[in-house]
Amino acid sequence: MAQQFEDSFRRKFNYLRLSVTDVCNFKCTYCLPDGYYPTGSKNSSFLTLPEIERIVTTFAACGTSKVRITGGEPTLRKDFLDIVSTVASVPEIKKVATTTNGYRMAANVHDWKAAGLTNINVSIDSLDPRMFKQITGQNRFHQVMQGIDEAFIAGYEQVKVNVVLLKDLNHHALPDFLNWIKDRSIQLRFIELMQTGEMDSLFDNHHVSGVQIQNSLIANGWSMKPRQLTDGPAKVFTHPDYLGEVGLIMPYERHFCQTCNRLRVSALGKLHLCLFGEEGVELRDLLQSDSQQEALIARIGEHLQGKSVSHYLHDGNTGMTPHLASIGG
Ligand code: SAM
Ligand code: SF4
Repeated sequence: MAQQFEDSFRRKFNYLRLSVTDVCNFKCTYCLPDGYYPTGSKNSSFLTLPEIERIVTTFAACGTSKVRITGGEPTLRKDFLDIVSTVASVPEIKKVATTTNGYRMAANVHDWKAAGLTNINVSIDSLDPRMFKQITGQNRFHQVMQGIDEAFIAGYEQVKVNVVLLKDLNHHALPDFLNWIKDRSIQLRFIELMQTGEMDSLFDNHHVSGVQIQNSLIANGWSMKPRQLTDGPAKVFTHPDYLGEVGLIMPYERHFCQTCNRLRVSALGKLHLCLFGEEGVELRDLLQSDSQQEALIARIGEHLQGKSVSHYLHDGNTGMTPHLASIGG
């Protein structure tokens, strides 16, 4: 290994979240309420396959073993299968995950599996089709649910389902969600709504802490699982009567950033040290030939020393991130 990516707080980075497109076909109220619009300059294009390969090979050489392909909606890329197989072919990468809105899952999940995708997170904010449409702007609830069934048929042992917690829209639905995972190997991941730059009153109206859910789980016999090295920041709870698990992602909790193990590269090739707070470090000029790897490692390593100890979200910081689709949530 060249050198393990590490910051000045001795946090080691073994998890890369790689955005491959900003484009999305959904209009989630907390992300792209008015739908997709381009954020880069007129001539900017998303990372190409050779650029993706160089990024992943370089991160792998410095300790990365897990890559999440995200966006926007990553599966809208015509070469999504090639992206998956390119990432999967890097020997050090043991987990190749994606986060998707599930739009293409029913039709394509068998191909994803064959290409080497090891883990899937799909976003489902409500089990009520009408509420699902209200939140996402898309009448695709049944299609997405069918995608989950198909993923199990394709051989995935577990599917993770992301639910953004929204006061009055879904935060009362815990019993329905728990009932749904009783006999299904699904890890539900409740994510607290994060305030981004373009969010108006939605945050004030709908932010709700995950603590309520945590208390309710503990009161009902759920217990917390120990954390694995490449795990994300979720606290995961299990219950002997449930096949499914529940994860809680609470970015507003103190010490949330202490276990940070991830770095992000945007679809336009910028390194982001955090979801929030900075405009990103240009990497693209160093992605044009394999011979640039050493310089690329040096640039990333140098900027890592400037990674902040915390995102300071609890102080009202929304940083430069207009919405999570722009740098890959
Ligand atoms: N389009 C894919 C999807 O929705 O799963 C991948 C990209 S999306 C930006 C990644 C995750 O971020 C989704 O689970 C989404 O629900 C979550 N997300 C987006 N905006 C958010 C916000 N403001 N607060 C919390 N989670 C958010
Ligand atoms: Fe699209 Fe995902 Fe953002 Fe929803 S959360 S608008 S599906 S990028």
